[in-house]
Amino acid sequence: MAVSRTIFIAGAGIGGLTAALALAAKGFRIVVLEKAERLEEVGAGLQLSPNASRVLVGLGLLDRLRLRAVTPEAISIMSARAGGELMRLPLGEAATQAAGAPYWVVHRADLQAALAAAVGDHPDIELRLGATFEDAAAHARGLTIVHRSGNSRQNELANALIGADGVWSTVRQHLFPDVQPRFSGLIAWRGTIDATQLPKEFTARRVQLWMGPGAHLVAYPIAGGRQINVVAVVPGTWNRPGWSTAGHPSEVVDAFPAPHWPSAARMMLTAVDGWRKWALFGVPEGCEWSKGQVALLGDAVHAMLPFAAQGAGMAIEDATVLAQHLGGNTTEGAEGIARALRQYGRARQARVRRVQRAARQQGRIYHMTGPLAIARDLAIRALGPQRVLARQDWIYDWRP
Ligand SMILES: Cc1cc2nc3c(=O)[nH]c(=O)nc-3n(C[C@H](O)[C@H](O)[C@H](O)COP(=O)(O)OP(=O)(O)OC[C@H]3O[C@@H](n4cnc5c(N)ncnc54)[C@H](O)[C@@H]3O)c2cc1C
Repeated sequence: MAVSRTIFIAGAGIGGLTAALALAAKGFRIVVLEKAERLEEVGAGLQLSPNASRVLVGLGLLDRLRLRAVTPEAISIMSARAGGELMRLPLGEAATQAAGAPYWVVHRADLQAALAAAVGDHPDIELRLGATFEDAAAHARGLTIVHRSGNSRQNELANALIGADGVWSTVRQHLFPDVQPRFSGLIAWRGTIDATQLPKEFTARRVQLWMGPGAHLVAYPIAGGRQINVVAVVPGTWNRPGWSTAGHPSEVVDAFPAPHWPSAARMMLTAVDGWRKWALFGVPEGCEWSKGQVALLGDAVHAMLPFAAQGAGMAIEDATVLAQHLGGNTTEGAEGIARALRQYGRARQARVRRVQRAARQQGRIYHMTGPLAIARDLAIRALGPQRVLARQDWIYDWRP
């Protein structure tokens, strides 16, 4: 390739690591800076629909993920008001065949570890842990990236910088200091249950989505089916940054009171050991995606409510589109890179905005009360599984 080759990525989350693999496949040399000293087992389950798994399979991750990811047989839509299942949406092998890619549920740490292992095997990617991105300055020779490891501050030259450093992005702060994450008024609680502790009907390879008054609950198997991942979303005012604050079980269990919530849902909540909570923040719609030779990716530019289960999926899609645009750029110098990054942003904006809106809309539907909840349940039953699934086609059928 004619253009110079070194790209720095800030952040070794799902988006940053996928971008590293996608860009290296286009012939770039990649340095990934990750502020954490270790890629820890923080976090819990992520859902990866075919639009995202297709990209990961294309990057050669099928074998690394197959053993850890679970392909659910179905998504059960449950209503607290109706006391049980409203509808079962078939997934499983037939859906994988039809989509040409699996629907996976996977522990975030397993996905990150699989991506990191692939990155570690790639000769053109260097992953530096304990390295915090601090600043970037553009000049005639490209970009100087300033980063810190312990007490040592270093400056290095690069041709482009990708900010994949999450919702609290330092790169975004550097580019667009006026853009601040907004608290949604909702708190997500997560925990896992050892699958052997639950009756068999709760450990089926199924995603259970419980909708109820002002709150909802999602549960599915991870870690090859050995654990059940439970996430409960409730309103609240606690809004500190971070992914893993310990919380008292009563805070979450009390948000799902009987008789509004059936015993099956409450039983799962009481079985969780070690609840952790994180406040749900979003990056406001309309954040710009790039400036000069610096671009944003994933949560850094579009952190969204998790109710469309597309937070990781959109970061993965961003990564492959970014690589297409940078890889297709044959113009020498800063202007060519800046143009490719602008085109990447333009290519992503409308789709991501639509997904952000769909996620907000889902949240409103899940939390309905009274007559609205009755109408919702009737409408879901009337639509039937095929039509409900078809409403996701615009998300799942996406191809790079
Ligand atoms: C620890 C953690 C746990 C999570 N748990 C869940 C979960 O349970 N469920 C869920 O739906 N989503 C979770 N998420 C969010 C989910 O991973 C993202 O929404 C999605 O995968 C998009 O990822 P991303 O790569 O854009 O950002 P992220 O996954 O947030 O990754 C950003 C990375 O950038 C690093 N970073 C930040 N600042 C700097 C800097 N200045 N220099 C270098 N590195 C930096 C962070 O340490 C992090 O590794 C979690 C994220 C994190 C970081």
